[in-house]
Amino acid sequence: MNSCVGVLALQGAFAAHCESLASIGIKTIEVRTPEQLANVDALLMPGGESSTMSQLLESSGLFDPIAARIANGMPTFGTCAGMILLSSEILDGRSDQRSFNAIDVSVRRNAFGRQVDSFESDIDTRVGQFHGVFIRAPRIERVGPEVEVLGRLGDEPVLVQQGKVMAASFHPELSHDVRLHEYFVSLMPTAGKV
Ligand code: GLN
Repeated sequence: MNSCVGVLALQGAFAAHCESLASIGIKTIEVRTPEQLANVDALLMPGGESSTMSQLLESSGLFDPIAARIANGMPTFGTCAGMILLSSEILDGRSDQRSFNAIDVSVRRNAFGRQVDSFESDIDTRVGQFHGVFIRAPRIERVGPEVEVLGRLGDEPVLVQQGKVMAASFHPELSHDVRLHEYFVSLMPTAGKV
C-alpha cells in the first residue's frame, strides 16, 4: 500500500496543500470524517480560522480520533491556524477553543510582532532559506524543552518540530516551494509515492 497524506479539509486553505503534495507525487485525501482519517498515514492541518476549525473538529467527530492518532505517532504538520490547533497553549483564543497539545509551544493568535495583518519575509530554515507568507499569523511566545526550532524569522521561532509533529506560523503552500512538504513527508515511516 502506498502511503497517503490526509489534508484536513473542514475549512481554510487546504486545496493548495493538496496541490503541493500532489506535485511531489504524494497521494492525498481530503479529511472531513473519522472514516477518511482512518485511511491516512499522516495529516496536514492547513491555515484558516482556528476557532472555527476547533468547532468543526468537534461537530465532525474528528477531534478525539485525531488526538489518538497523534498520540500513536502519526506525522502531523500544522500551518498557521493548524499550528494553533497543535499547540499546548493558545493565547488570545476563544474561550471554547481547543487544541491538541501535540507540540509544546504557546502561541498568540494574530500577534506576529506588530504586523498583525499579512507580510512576506525570507526565513532561515532547516531546508535553507524559505520565502514565508504570513497571514494574520500566530506568534510563538514560548518553546518547550522538547521542541526543536527548525526555522526563524530574525530571532523569532516560526517553524518547530517535536517528534513527528511539525508546525509553521506561515503558509508554505503559498510559496511555490515544496521543500517543507518534502521534509514533512520524510517523517512517514514508508514515504511512498503514488
Ligand atoms: N488568525 C487565524 C486564527 O487564529 C490564523 C490565520 C491563518 O491561518 N492564516 O486561526
